[in-house]
Amino acid sequence: MFFHVQKLINEIIPDEPDPAAANALQEGLGGQFGEMRTMMQYLFQSFNFRGNAKPYRDLIHAVATEEISHVELIATTINHLLDGSPRYQGQQDGTPGAGGATPLNMALSHGNIHHFLVGAQGAMPVDAAGNPWSGSYVYNSGNLVLDLLYNLMLEATGRLQKCRIYEMTNNKTARSTVAYLIVRDHAHENVYARALESLGVNWNKTLPIPNFDATKFPEVKKLMDQGLHNQQHHWRLDGSEMAKIFHGPSPARPLKCLPSGQRSSHRA
Ligand code: MN
Ligand code: MN
Repeated sequence: MFFHVQKLINEIIPDEPDPAAANALQEGLGGQFGEMRTMMQYLFQSFNFRGNAKPYRDLIHAVATEEISHVELIATTINHLLDGSPRYQGQQDGTPGAGGATPLNMALSHGNIHHFLVGAQGAMPVDAAGNPWSGSYVYNSGNLVLDLLYNLMLEATGRLQKCRIYEMTNNKTARSTVAYLIVRDHAHENVYARALESLGVNWNKTLPIPNFDATKFPEVKKLMDQGLHNQQHHWRLDGSEMAKIFHGPSPARPLKCLPSGQRSSHRA
């Protein structure tokens, strides 16, 4: 069960309305890499967790619970950016709309008109392009390493996008929340990376994923015996520098870099 405290996980700094910033933040709320995604993905991963690896379930559950508060924070921030400024609430300019004024005029030129036309100047479960949030974003494979890898990628992409949003607006309301979420995404990248380390990453031990001997499938063995899993073609007629990056121990050793579509097993 969950308990609720009527308090945000981080303070939102008051500023004037900014519908364009509100719409940018919709990506952080209802986008493919937004807070609704992290919340639902980690909740489903923890709900479905079986087996006795309790520390990993507890970690995923802990981050999931925090993400509920992130959804609350970013949704409330969007509300403030659409309807929450001291000036818009009439403290300086009187009653909004009084005397035929058009205080919502900015909706015609900025942001998502649905914030004003469909919603009531509040957050919506959509991304910045208006696409509805989708349950198909949720990734829960049943393979702990895969789930943690995807969680790490999810946090990293969320952080990337929030850094871009930070560079889009200097509105104090938007920045107070975006800055907080950038830092928490960083924290979650760290905990998932640490969890993966505890499972032996070292990519040589982790890959392939799923980690089993596929040569027990005869058709697969035939191809692996030819070295097909340790080669990559560059498909360039004018030369490629791809081979320069294949020095490390992962993902496979040795990794052959090949010029064309032919298989390498019978080549040098
Ligand atoms: Mn988050
Ligand atoms: Mn997170």
